[in-house]
Parts: sequence; structure tokens; C-alpha cells
Amino acid sequence: MSEALSTGVLPPWVQRQRSTLLAQRGHAWLLQGPSGLGQYGLALELVRAWLCDAPTEQGACCQCGSCHAIEVHAHADLCLLMPEAMMIEQGWPLSEKAQSDIDDKKRKASKEIRVEAMREAVEFSQRTSARGRGKAVLVYPAERMNHITANALLKTLEEPPGDVKFVLATGAAHQLLPTIRSRCMGHNMVWPDAAESTAWLAAEGVAPADAHVLLAAAGSRPEDALQWARAGRTAQSWSAVPRAVVQGALNVFADWGPAQVVDALQKLCHDLQLVRVGATPRFYAAADLPTAPSLAALTQWAKDLNATARVVEHPFNAGLLLESLVGRAQNALNSRL
Ligand SMILES: [Zn+2]
Repeated sequence: MSEALSTGVLPPWVQRQRSTLLAQRGHAWLLQGPSGLGQYGLALELVRAWLCDAPTEQGACCQCGSCHAIEVHAHADLCLLMPEAMMIEQGWPLSEKAQSDIDDKKRKASKEIRVEAMREAVEFSQRTSARGRGKAVLVYPAERMNHITANALLKTLEEPPGDVKFVLATGAAHQLLPTIRSRCMGHNMVWPDAAESTAWLAAEGVAPADAHVLLAAAGSRPEDALQWARAGRTAQSWSAVPRAVVQGALNVFADWGPAQVVDALQKLCHDLQLVRVGATPRFYAAADLPTAPSLAALTQWAKDLNATARVVEHPFNAGLLLESLVGRAQNALNSRL
């Protein structure tokens, strides 16, 4: 699942991390942790503060020409490296060449960070700062760099031109080249507690009844919970999943992508394993769960789901895949193993 990039209220836990990081020196940060904790928001806050004409310990002033330029996504000293599809979604401009290729239908917007964009970023970092306050390169999600792209960045990270700072943000640091990780100062994203997360979700317009359930469903990652809420998921639709799976009612997943279905089933399997050993389920309410089959059956199902998860992004017939996933779920849940 791609990450929700909230542009509304900056979460308080991100504000606190901004102050902590700004108090330290470092020309290249790597913000890491599972998705949904605010990596992109924090990265953008660092960039704002670095380029701001009148920054404070709390970050950018939000009023100067630099802050305004970032707000309207047109800052000459900021280079953003994101997959093109995500840039379009977030309203960031592509390079002229990339935009015309996509407009002319020569190719689709890329879901990876392209090596051409990285080469432009390397040139960018060698140019003089337009506003005289240095330059910044923001890479997100950093795991969407392939090896060629990452190696192109590596050289610049090793010998950074004087006035450029980097911030890489990732939800999957283990997928990055070790040499990239070792060139950056690492920062582990802080997990907000449930009260702070639900208060923030409420401020973003999520109904309180949905906020608690969706936050648990998202494994306590608030931005993921927000994205689900915005996609129309409710407490009710999530709670209905276990029963629907038992009954083979496929329509509960009508507007879900295959990866999301696998994720929901993995969470169901995980929770049943917890229940089986006497622990409290994490993602679903205990009352919504069916009777757990044996641990042997659950272990087998978990393996099966993990194998599917590794290939689920490949173009399958989504309808057949869904039928097969739910069929296998029913087998596991009815198992007499
Ligand atoms: Zn400013």
C-alpha cells in the first residue's frame, strides 16, 4: 500500500522529531521505520527549515519567499526525487522531458524513481544555489530507487558539493543498499501513542468510532489509517471482514486491491494465532473473530499467504486471485488438522 501523504495538520509527533533533528548537524538524513509514521512529512519539514530565510529551532517561518516557493511546489533550490506517479498525485511538477513523454503516451508515469531523474538531481547538486541559502534533495520513498539509481546517488553522497543537504525517507530501509544507509545519519521514526494518533485522525476529519478501529487495523500506523478512511473504509467494513471470509462472501473485498486483501488476511491469520495462544488480537476486535483452527493449520495458512504476498503485485486476474485467496482462507478456518 502506498502511503497517505497528509498535507493538513502536521502531527505533533512529527513536530517533536523536527525540533530534535534540526538541533543536530548532518548533511544527509535517512528517516526510517515502517510506513505510515510520517516520514515524508518530516522530510519536507527539514527541507523547509534548511531553505527558509528565517528559520527557528522549531522549523521554517512559513512566511518568507522560500517557504512560499515550497508551498506552491516551485522552489529552485529543492530537488524532489519521487516516483513520477506519486509526484503527479501530490501535485509536484515533473521535468519537461518526463512530462512530455507521458503526455505523448510514449510511456506511463513511473512507479520507481528513474535514473534520469537521479542524473538531473546530481547535476542540480553541483549548481549554485538560486536563493543563496543552499540546496536540498528529498528522496521518497527511498526504497523505490533501483541499484543503478542508488549508485548514481551514492557518488554525490560520498562527496557532497558544499551547500547541498539530503533527506531520504523510507518505509523499507532493509531494501536500501547498505552503502546508502551508511552514508546517512539514520533516524528511526517515533511511534505515536494511540491517544495522539486518534486525536490527529479526528483533526483530519475521521469519525472517532472509525479512528480507533482503523488505527488498530493499520497496525497503529496513523497515516495508513487516514488513507484507509479517505478510501472509504469504516470501522464497520473492517469488522465485517472475518465473518465474510468464513462465509466466502467475496463482495466484502469489492473495491480492494489484491495486495490489500492479502494484507487483511495476513492480519486475520496473525490475530487467530494470537488468540490460539491466549493473547489479545492486534488488528481485529476479538468479538469479530471466528473460532481459531489449530496452530498447525494457521501456520500453514500463514506460509501460503506470505508466498502470495511476495508475488501479489504481478498482474494477475484479480477476480480469480480473490476467489482462490478466500477459498484457501475457508479451508484453513475449517481445517480439522
Ligand atoms: Zn521561511
